[in-house]
Amino acid sequence: MSQVKRKPGQYWDKSANPIIVKGGGYHCTNISPGCIHCWAETTNLRFHNRIPYDGTRVEFELDQAILDKVIRRKTRTIYFMCDLMDYLHGRVPDALIWDLFKFMAENPQHIYLILTKRADRFCNLIPTIRSKLVNRLFHVKLGLTVCNQVEANEKIPMVLPFIDWLSLEPMLGAIDLEGGGRCWLSDAGLRIPWIVIGGETGPGARPMHPEWVRSVRDQCLDAGVPFFFKNCGAWKPILLGEVSENRGLDIFKGLHFISPDGTLKKDPGPDKHDELLKRNCWPIQRRRGKDYYLDGRIYNEVPTWN
Ligand code: SF4
Repeated sequence: MSQVKRKPGQYWDKSANPIIVKGGGYHCTNISPGCIHCWAETTNLRFHNRIPYDGTRVEFELDQAILDKVIRRKTRTIYFMCDLMDYLHGRVPDALIWDLFKFMAENPQHIYLILTKRADRFCNLIPTIRSKLVNRLFHVKLGLTVCNQVEANEKIPMVLPFIDWLSLEPMLGAIDLEGGGRCWLSDAGLRIPWIVIGGETGPGARPMHPEWVRSVRDQCLDAGVPFFFKNCGAWKPILLGEVSENRGLDIFKGLHFISPDGTLKKDPGPDKHDELLKRNCWPIQRRRGKDYYLDGRIYNEVPTWN
């Protein structure tokens, strides 16, 4: 496994973005509530071609210079591929996606993580690519990303036989990893092998209730599935111990409270704090910097990918 030193909350060593817009920069289209504050779009608007991720008609190509850099790298590396767009965006031609997978198949010296929100295109294309490149993609880890229960119910059953991991980032609501009478974490032979959770960051970021994260963590613990908590996002919850030990006191003054359905309320005053806590509204505050802890612990399990 790679010797690259990782930052906290990071499960990959390096990112590589070989799918580019002809002429430079990146592109994608917002298709989910999770796209509203897309970090990749913000990055593209600031540093690259400045085209918003709004469905503008662009043409894509593979950047051979990026691929050559990956080939030249001698240290075994976990690459996060295409993190500035969705590689299954509707305007990325099938042939280009084939070329990307052939490249990864021909360069098994690294591990490649790749994520999509586009479960329908995944189903139409990826099983065929996998069957043609059979036994050559063990080091390519296919992920799905969803942000709430509606997306989980719709998309997980479509891709379950083919995915290696599920990303819940930004997590925008409680997610029960069961659907249609089956548990997506524990059914023998067909289960999600790894779960990653992260909160939203950046301007306008929406908060994540710590109970949503605890619930998925517990579902993973019960099923023996590795669980990686990336960070809380822009909003930091007050620690569990502080909440339970300070009921009735004034330490939540001036904070916000997130309710179990994700609604955010400003502090209504100390006389309402106890009632809010009883309704499982959690005190939370917007703070700079990332918080990698959940209830005072780091969860950074990653499957063994040697
Ligand atoms: S799919 Fe991903 S990259 Fe594309 S707009 Fe949504 S969040 Fe951004």
